[in-house]
Amino acid sequence: MDFDLFVIGGGSGGVRCARIAAGHGARVGVAEERFWGGTCVNVGCVPKKLLVQAGEYGAWADDAAGFGWTIKKGPHDWAKLIAAKDKEINRLNGIYRRLLDGAGCKIFDARATFIDAHTLDVGGQRITAEHIVIATGGNPERVPVPGAELAIISDDTFYLPVMPKKIAIVGSGFIAVEFAGIFRALGAEVHLIYRQPLPLRGFDQDLREGLAEALAAQGVILHPNCSPEKVEAAGDGRILTYGGGQKLEVDTVFFATGRRPATARLGLENVGVTVNKSGAIIVDAKLRTAAPNIYSIGDVTDRINLTPFAIAEGHALADSLFGNKPRAVSLDNVPAAVFSTPPIGTVGLTEEQAAANGPVDVYVAKFTPMRHTLSGRARKTMMKLVVDQATQKVVGAHMLGEDAPELIQGIAIAVVMGATKADFDRTIGIHPTAAEEFVTMRTRTRVAGVAQAAE
Ligand code: NDP
Repeated sequence: MDFDLFVIGGGSGGVRCARIAAGHGARVGVAEERFWGGTCVNVGCVPKKLLVQAGEYGAWADDAAGFGWTIKKGPHDWAKLIAAKDKEINRLNGIYRRLLDGAGCKIFDARATFIDAHTLDVGGQRITAEHIVIATGGNPERVPVPGAELAIISDDTFYLPVMPKKIAIVGSGFIAVEFAGIFRALGAEVHLIYRQPLPLRGFDQDLREGLAEALAAQGVILHPNCSPEKVEAAGDGRILTYGGGQKLEVDTVFFATGRRPATARLGLENVGVTVNKSGAIIVDAKLRTAAPNIYSIGDVTDRINLTPFAIAEGHALADSLFGNKPRAVSLDNVPAAVFSTPPIGTVGLTEEQAAANGPVDVYVAKFTPMRHTLSGRARKTMMKLVVDQATQKVVGAHMLGEDAPELIQGIAIAVVMGATKADFDRTIGIHPTAAEEFVTMRTRTRVAGVAQAAE
């Protein structure tokens, strides 16, 4: 065999798996056909967060007046922002490549396809490997309506030559709500078109309601309960037909309607690796596919599609295969953030999920953050704890508000450790912060899940 381990895909999960395996002494090869660092570094988490931050500066400039500053805000220069972002992404790209090099992995800038379970075609070269890991991620997908190809997808947003003045964003998942905040903060008229009554299906109901209010408060025009029907060109612009024949003329239509696992043209049929109906590779708890020596991690398996989760899986797999430390990553209590405006941080069960298991004590706090008592900006913070009544364990913590992702990371440690509400209560708050609210919520807002428990 040429390699002990061959990793297909140089994104977050694949790179971590390759580096750790090499560190354990394995001979490792990695193939990446598009960009090192994958979606997260190039067309995902990292550039997205830079764009979110660009939007925040505009609002801060307005807020400053309430604190006595006279700041004259000029126009925003989109091209300058994109150039600065590109420079940073190129730097990170190089770092990812060098990390692999430094760890002693052999790098292939090419596509890899299976010939048999131990043989790959890597850019025309035949490569053999004992173990193979598929870490190819996913790609944004448009809804298949007429004219869908006239709409952009999230990959395109990072390279738009000009900022749209008026944009229709279809969907209300992570990507849709994040970009609604970005484009609105940078001055666009933003329409959010989604088929649910509230954005972010699957998130806690209070978060969903709070986010809808926050989007409306910043001037995003919401079109709930509407699906896209057609996209047409109108000169340089687009006309979106949606929600039973309504029409909207905009510069750009953006489909943020989910991602599809990247399993096409890998030659999976040659090796018996099975996929589910959405095309995701089916793996067991040890990340094994249906083929004994082939494993899969990250978004291509479509379970928890988050970079840190893919990294954790890649690391665990390398430890299990080559480090004599077999272990699995838990799917429970994986914290997540949505970098909406303001952002969301969440860990554990939603109230609805927890209530399905039995009675829960729910604590909710809503307030205007201190900064905005002077800035005058209509911006609220919502914090929530979901506590299992029988054990008094905090099974869910949710926040919508400034710094929510930074704050929930620490709360997630407590939740993973199984902290009780009494543990939260005996922790002294840090004053004056928003965070202290998590340890000072004394009065229960409501009890939920009693009916289910009585059944
Ligand atoms: P999501 O699955 O989060 O959302 C997809 C959206 O598209 C939903 O609102 C969905 O509606 C809608 N949709 C899907 N099909 C149709 C259809 N046929 N007609 C109308 N609407 C449709 O996908 P995203 O693309 O936003 O993001 C993909 C994943 O990437 C996320 O789930 C997340 O795991 C990850 N991600 C994480 C981020 C973070 O950590 N901050 C940021 C960005 C992405 P409905 O709800 O009704 O199904």
